[in-house]
Amino acid sequence: MFEKTEGIVLRAIEYKDTDKLLTVLTRDLGKVTFKARGVKSKNSKLRAASQILTFSEFTVTDFQGRYVIREAVCKEIFPELQNDLTLLSLASYFVQVCDMVAQEADPMPELLSLLLNALYALSKLKLPQAMVKAVFELRTACIAGFLPDLRGCAICGREDPDRFNITQGVLQCATCRSEDTNGIRMPVSAGVLNAMRYISSADPKRLFSFRLSDVSCTELSQITESYLTMRLERGFSALDFYKSLLL
Ligand SMILES: [Zn+2]
Repeated sequence: MFEKTEGIVLRAIEYKDTDKLLTVLTRDLGKVTFKARGVKSKNSKLRAASQILTFSEFTVTDFQGRYVIREAVCKEIFPELQNDLTLLSLASYFVQVCDMVAQEADPMPELLSLLLNALYALSKLKLPQAMVKAVFELRTACIAGFLPDLRGCAICGREDPDRFNITQGVLQCATCRSEDTNGIRMPVSAGVLNAMRYISSADPKRLFSFRLSDVSCTELSQITESYLTMRLERGFSALDFYKSLLL
């Protein structure tokens, strides 16, 4: 039986002489492994669609418990990312995060849309990297079940507190202390807090439709990175590499 699904290639490993095994974040099948037969031969029609970061429509069949690609049509490629090491390392970080968050047989169409939109924002719209990174990180945390409570100070209820507790995912005032104030607290300015509220609740199509100064984007991106990596309980080699390029 044939199945069609769209997806972005997250990883590709060599398999036998001419094949590859692709890890693909798909709309319908969650994260899944596709076997691309003969893809390393020169005339393979699957070559373009088997590249990492390429968004394609795949037609697959189930063969002995593994999906084999019968046909693949490229729908979006991002050459701008391949030609810029900084952009590529940031995109690779997004891919590593998706690879960790997505599960097999558990479709997360909103994660696929987010990745696609983030890659588009980086490569075609040329939006500031810190902004795209922050949107991706905070929204991924929300999708992965770590929606922060951004309504107001978790202790006194004030609507404009100045600390974000990344351990607990709540807002607090610097002056509010209780037995509940354990955890790492990061300063958050009013503009950054507004951006966080926007990102965590915006319609997916309007996620990148806000503007923030470069300084605030950097502040936002430090908060969202700390929050996401704390919640996922790990670091990412591509993120370390990306940050080393900015020094
Ligand atoms: Zn307070």
